[in-house]
Amino acid sequence: MGKLVVAAAASGCAVVACVVAALMVGRSVRRRRGWRRVVRVLEELEEGCATPVGRLRQVVDAMAVEMHAGLASEGGSKLKMLLTYVHNLPTGNEKGIYYALDLGGTNFRVLRVRLGGQRSAIIEHDVDRQPIPQHLMTSTSEELFDFIATSLNDFVEREENVSKPSQKERRELGFTFSFPVKQISSSSGTLIKWTKGFSVEDMVGKDVSQCLQQAMSRKGMDMRVTALINDTVGTLALGHYHDEDTVAAVIFGTGTNACYLERADAIIKSQGLLTTTGGMVVNMEWGNFWSSHLPRTSYDVDLDAESPNPNDQGFEKMISGMYLGDIVRRVILQMSQESDVFGPVSSKLDEPFILRTPLIAAMHEDDSPNLNEVARILKETLKIPDVPLNVRKLVVKVCDVVTCRAARLAAAGIVGILKKIGRDGSGGIASVKTRNGIHNKMRRTVVAVEGGLYTNYTMFREYLNEAMGQILGEDVAPYVIIKVTEDGSGIGAALLAASHSASEVVDSVQLL
Ligand code: ADP
Ligand code: MG
Repeated sequence: MGKLVVAAAASGCAVVACVVAALMVGRSVRRRRGWRRVVRVLEELEEGCATPVGRLRQVVDAMAVEMHAGLASEGGSKLKMLLTYVHNLPTGNEKGIYYALDLGGTNFRVLRVRLGGQRSAIIEHDVDRQPIPQHLMTSTSEELFDFIATSLNDFVEREENVSKPSQKERRELGFTFSFPVKQISSSSGTLIKWTKGFSVEDMVGKDVSQCLQQAMSRKGMDMRVTALINDTVGTLALGHYHDEDTVAAVIFGTGTNACYLERADAIIKSQGLLTTTGGMVVNMEWGNFWSSHLPRTSYDVDLDAESPNPNDQGFEKMISGMYLGDIVRRVILQMSQESDVFGPVSSKLDEPFILRTPLIAAMHEDDSPNLNEVARILKETLKIPDVPLNVRKLVVKVCDVVTCRAARLAAAGIVGILKKIGRDGSGGIASVKTRNGIHNKMRRTVVAVEGGLYTNYTMFREYLNEAMGQILGEDVAPYVIIKVTEDGSGIGAALLAASHSASEVVDSVQLL
């Protein structure tokens, strides 16, 4: 009897042990299967985002071809290639005190810049940054510009009380207005459409400078808008002020855009365009670039389809700070739906734009051994707690793939511009014989860059620079320099106000 009980108990234990073992095996099989599924999602992402140098060179060529097409005729390409009427960039000889106003997002900035007349010296600049009150973003043009003029007036009075008043009879202002504008001259242009949450309907089609000029008159201010530009042009102006070899400027911030110095006779769509310098800055509006060579995934297709502007800004949606975080969110959502490695699917993963790009930068650059920052962001932002280390590593890899593609495509875009203007070395490098032997000679080329994505996200910056070297090759790459131009969108406007203040310069662009 006793033996029987012991035997029964023993066999009961064996059954339990078997069940537990089976459960554990089952769970580990499931976990392994789940893990295999997420790894497959990652591998598919890597394949879909692949940017080998050969493909980047195709993007370079496509960019140059589209630039040609956009210059050839109005609507000839997805690249608008807008004329800016800016043709003489600051030289460094500009002197005096100039004001600038930078409006293009949620904040606007007023600047006062004192120029010393010697290239290195922007003697001082003061900045006042203010948020645009939400209600003014959808009000009337009069209300919006009255607010801006009041802030500008307060700033001028404050500044001129504490420092020596301007010697000039009339103050001059450069206006950076980063919305699509059809320029009429370098100091005036009409608003094509609002973006970035603004919707002041009576403004569309109106002359932007005139709206500001009238508001300043209503305040009794004696100030003249001598330059109306967008942020890329401001960046190019400041870049050129510091370094004459600067030929293009690119913004990598919330959005992305580029401008460059083009030969006036290459702007076929404006035949007979005459400028005193023979050149003109062209605003590419490159966020809208598209090519079948761009590596596109199902995540990009969905992001575009669900956006308020489908089929628009395709390049921007793969590259800029507004979108990178949301691509990563979509990949994590897919992984979470296909397996349980993230636990139950968090409803937060369904919220568009909840994962901002600075957060993916923080996860990507988390160098703690346990990836504590990744765990914190997954928990706090996406409400996914207790993620094991191997899954955290997977998330870092997703950030890496998405950012690497963005940065490499950005580099291809830049080389596309260089190719268009013959600065990519593809025309060959001249060999010069000197007493010390034969040397390669190529013109030094500088590209000015501005924007929070490039300046704050180290991995983006490093991938971009690495890809530049790979595309250009080791002989040419040393001649191409990417230079950060801080505050170019503001200071650049003041510089252009200075270099355009002589009215004969403004008038020297003619359309025959
Ligand atoms: P804007 O483009 O709105 O004029 P910025 O040039 O300052 O402004 O860029 C802001 C954008 O840069 C943000 O929307 C964000 O996408 C990106 N950004 C800012 N900080 C970081 C960061 N630490 N890491 C990655 N991206 C960042
Ligand atoms: Mg900006």
